[in-house]
Amino acid sequence: MSWQMPSTVDEALRLKADNPGATVIAGGTFLGILSGQGLLDNDEWISLQNISELKTLGTEGDLSVGAMVTHRRLELTPVVREDWPGLAQAFGVVASPRIRNVATIGGVLADADYASDPPSMLVASRAVAEVASVRGMRRVPIEDLIAGHYETTLADDELITRVVVPRPRGKGVYRKFRTRSREDRPTVAVAAAREDDRVRVVVGAVSDRPQHYADICAAWKPGDEDSAREIGAAYAEAIRCIGDGRGSAAYRRRVVGVEVRRVLMQVGP
Ligand SMILES: Cc1cc2nc3c(=O)[nH]c(=O)nc-3n(C[C@H](O)[C@H](O)[C@H](O)COP(=O)(O)OP(=O)(O)OC[C@H]3O[C@@H](n4cnc5c(N)ncnc54)[C@H](O)[C@@H]3O)c2cc1C
Repeated sequence: MSWQMPSTVDEALRLKADNPGATVIAGGTFLGILSGQGLLDNDEWISLQNISELKTLGTEGDLSVGAMVTHRRLELTPVVREDWPGLAQAFGVVASPRIRNVATIGGVLADADYASDPPSMLVASRAVAEVASVRGMRRVPIEDLIAGHYETTLADDELITRVVVPRPRGKGVYRKFRTRSREDRPTVAVAAAREDDRVRVVVGAVSDRPQHYADICAAWKPGDEDSAREIGAAYAEAIRCIGDGRGSAAYRRRVVGVEVRRVLMQVGP
């Protein structure tokens, strides 16, 4: 078995280019489950754990989050809680502190699990991932990074190095609807980011990718209960839902209607 621990991004990119089949490991919480269940059997690993440049968190202007920044840091860093409260909220309700202490922003985006909390808030916030390889760097909006169930638009030799979240132009709210335990993944995830008098509502955890409808949101009147109810109903009708152990498609659709109304009342007036 080969276990490589590069100490710079350049070194990691070179290793990934030379071994495109190697598994990149960040916090290991997702990969641990895959390995434990026998779904992953790989002899070549590249750990990002020693790369300090991937652990930086910049809060001047936009929020600049290195791929190895943990959920717990985003939840607890005072300036993130103050200036990006919706984001701190979304990362702060993932699993338990034990998971949040090791799980990373790069890992949650690269695993593209539909039942994760942070992606819908990142899409609502218009966050962009910086993706690098030995061929160069490109910027990818999070909604274009997640392609489907456990599928991303990352090439085999690419790594997520950073996520940039614009400074909010209004309140952000994340609502996690669970049907079982407090530490469960969401049955329905609803994120809203206010942009002056407009709002961007993104629904996650109900199908392969986060979904939002700008045309439906255009009818929003801040603080108005009737418009919140109508938008909730329109989302419930438009949304694509799957059924799984956390709820049927029909149940999810009903919850979406209610949760979208609630998030709109929380984010306005
Ligand atoms: C018990 C449990 C409960 C959970 N509950 C929730 C929950 O309630 N809500 C929720 O949102 N999530 C939940 N999760 C999921 C958890 O948040 C993810 O497993 C975690 O975010 C993945 O991050 P990681 O750093 O551990 O990734 P890893 O497991 O290290 O990697 C995940 C994937 O990303 C790839 N990868 C990692 N970093 C990069 C990078 N920089 N560039 C390219 N590819 C990369 C890896 O190759 C791998 O394919 C839960 C997990 C567990 C174990």
